[in-house]
Amino acid sequence: MVNSDRIYLSPPHMGGAELDYVHRAFESNFIAPLGPQLAEFEAGFSRLTGFAHCLALSSGTAAIHLGLRLLGVGPGDVVIASTLTFIGSVTPATFLGADLHFVDSDAAIWTMDPALLARAVAEIEARGRRVAAVIPTDIYGQCSDYDSLLAVCQPRGIPLLIDAAEAVGATYKDRHAGLGGDAAVYSFNGNKIITTGGGGLLASHDKALIDEARRLSQQARDPAPHYEHSTIGYNYRMSNVAAAIGLGQLDMLATFVARRRGIFDWYVEALGHLPGVSFMPEAASGRANRWLTVMLLDEAAFGAAPEDVRLALEAENIESRPVWKPMHMQPVFRDVPCTGGAVSEDLFRRGLCLPSGTAMTKADLARIARIVAGVAATAHKGGRRTP
Ligand SMILES: *Cc1c(COP(=O)(O)O)cnc(C)c1O
Repeated sequence: MVNSDRIYLSPPHMGGAELDYVHRAFESNFIAPLGPQLAEFEAGFSRLTGFAHCLALSSGTAAIHLGLRLLGVGPGDVVIASTLTFIGSVTPATFLGADLHFVDSDAAIWTMDPALLARAVAEIEARGRRVAAVIPTDIYGQCSDYDSLLAVCQPRGIPLLIDAAEAVGATYKDRHAGLGGDAAVYSFNGNKIITTGGGGLLASHDKALIDEARRLSQQARDPAPHYEHSTIGYNYRMSNVAAAIGLGQLDMLATFVARRRGIFDWYVEALGHLPGVSFMPEAASGRANRWLTVMLLDEAAFGAAPEDVRLALEAENIESRPVWKPMHMQPVFRDVPCTGGAVSEDLFRRGLCLPSGTAMTKADLARIARIVAGVAATAHKGGRRTP
């Protein structure tokens, strides 16, 4: 039986106030591109993160592109990135003509391994190449070990651009995700913990960096009554209407983080006792936002593979998804070097992201848990599902 109401992995969830903010934008006719809601959203994000300067953009990918360019990345440079990430984190380095180099995860917390980063930097510099930036990803809303990464980067003057696209509302040592980097990037894509329907943000303590990013994001117009241009820019600014939606979502963030963490705890309680089942660990140094609940399956003990569970859920019109396929395994990056790789490959093989939307009901969760447990029960009865 297929239910008509599909359960998505992480659909948008409007709190209700979003429409009021959008109405306000309509009433003042600040539909696009700039307007008071955009400035208010950026100010709200500054208060949330502790970054003095925030620039709202059309996507997280755009924010990474601008961030890398303003940190000085150019043709022939090397940019080091987490291999366990989403492709939007790493493509901007190629837009700038830089060469990528991937670094594997720390098995304990799944974010970039600082020891492997140190090894990668040493190897790249020994070849006479310049590492122009490092982009660690705060994977599934878990902050990287910023202090250990900075200990590698700072003495060498390598800037750290933190990809906190998935980590809005998470903390590291009581600071908001991203704080501590030379700059940080956030995403408000439709599946993230808060959404503007599509959008991103670049944050930094460096006013000059954000001022120049703002200019480049609006086609790099020089001050003049006519349109005058002396540099190449982009059309990357967030619209005022999108920012109005973002204001309503910001009001909901604390509730959403609490609910996502509650969903994670619920899955652990419902499924954690099954043989071969474990869940993404949480770093002692912070509080993850648990954007997605990630379950790991030991196929031998559980009796079935993550793909069997995914198909069983899909048969009930429920979306789940494998862990991000590491960048060094992607055909498009077959020639990009990677320091380490076994940890992220293992997480990709064993991991499954379970539905984590904040609008799900207890009944939805119970149904999902029943289906997952059912796959194990069938397997242990000897009736192992064949694909
Ligand atoms: C979503 C995401 C991005 C890109 O954000 P967009 O707003 O979709 O461009 C970058 N990095 C990571 C880790 C993401 O999850």
